[in-house]
Amino acid sequence: MQPVKPFFARSVELQDPLIGNALAGEMHRQQNQIELIASENIVSRAVLDALGHVMANKTLEGYPGKRFHGGAEFVDVVEQAAIDRACDLFQCAYANVQPHSGTQANQAVFFATLKPGDRLLSMDLAAGGHLSHGAAPNLSGQWFETFHYGVDRDSEQIDYQSVAKLADENRPRLLIAGGSAYPREINFKRLKEIADSVGAIFLVDMAHFAGLVAAGVHPSPVPYADIVTCTTTKTMRGPRGGLILARDASWARKLQSAVFPGVQGSLHTQVIAAKAVCLGEALSDDFKAYGQQIVDNARTLADTLLGHGINLVSGGTDTHIVLLNLVSKGLSGQLVQDSLAEANITSNKNPVPFDSGRPSEWVGLRLGVSAATTRGLKQKEFGILGDTIASLIKHCSHADESIIVDARETVSKLCDQYPIYP
Ligand SMILES: *Cc1c(COP(=O)(O)O)cnc(C)c1O
Repeated sequence: MQPVKPFFARSVELQDPLIGNALAGEMHRQQNQIELIASENIVSRAVLDALGHVMANKTLEGYPGKRFHGGAEFVDVVEQAAIDRACDLFQCAYANVQPHSGTQANQAVFFATLKPGDRLLSMDLAAGGHLSHGAAPNLSGQWFETFHYGVDRDSEQIDYQSVAKLADENRPRLLIAGGSAYPREINFKRLKEIADSVGAIFLVDMAHFAGLVAAGVHPSPVPYADIVTCTTTKTMRGPRGGLILARDASWARKLQSAVFPGVQGSLHTQVIAAKAVCLGEALSDDFKAYGQQIVDNARTLADTLLGHGINLVSGGTDTHIVLLNLVSKGLSGQLVQDSLAEANITSNKNPVPFDSGRPSEWVGLRLGVSAATTRGLKQKEFGILGDTIASLIKHCSHADESIIVDARETVSKLCDQYPIYP
């Protein structure tokens, strides 16, 4: 027998020091900062094992039992498990687990339901929508005629009357709900009625809150939407990728061929395995507890910030997202993002409703609690984080180095207290 070639044995650290060092640096960064970017999370060791597995070598097209290549027996087990778990978890009859990302999942839905030039109605970006919902620079914005609804100026929540009016005036073929910075529950029943009143298909993109739905702490769109898409990242706490779901099988045939061969080729086999692991985790009682803790932590963070006189879009949160409006402080989101970064808290600037500035002038800062909740932080720690963030915001207008020193110390203690991967 030949000895195993070093090619199959050498670690990335030995094989490629530039990349090996960057990977080690990223591990260190994640351990030593508090992640508050709302779209991020920290996956389990089991999900990482699947992602780094030799299953990545396998090329397959098609669906379980109907492949174009041989050697599918183990990937079929994995993909069928992912489908069955997704259907069980979200109480739906149809699941496609192949989309490479949330954007690809939406693109496949568009390919299944629309023709170029058709109309779609979705939430505008400043109100918290998503680029893949018809924004001008995205393919969806160039191939479809897009109309946007927004939020009410006072409540900063979806203005359903105006959605109904826009739907009536513009007769969209597709109505989309869901976004990336909307901190409140969405009235799916009302939006389904609006879609029905104009003969539109109703798509809910639950990319951000899918994990909360899975945990049973947020209403499910599945009973109302014709089609549901989501990512397996974000609150789902799985690999980078997307899902397409539907309550019944009416769109199944079109969706299957829209994903493959419509907009994608071969499967990311190892990612499908990681999705199956993530969906298995999401069916557990631990995941329900994690979902409830997310909601509790987000409320604590929101209440703490409000207590310090910081304005929040819509006045609070029902989800994992807390969106700060810094306009009354005279600060940009970028400035506050940088100040938090000095203390090893990671966040992102964001527009707030009716924000018309360029990204450098946006007055919003988006925070999300999922990753730090996965780490183990609870209400007490989120109270501390809220106080720390409020002091860092103060530092932006009244510079005081001791604030940064104290904040770094607080964050460092939390990171040491709640370690990630051994
Ligand atoms: C994050 C997000 C997506 C896109 O997911 P990617 O995997 O980054 O392509 C789609 N829709 C919404 C609402 C999102 O928040």
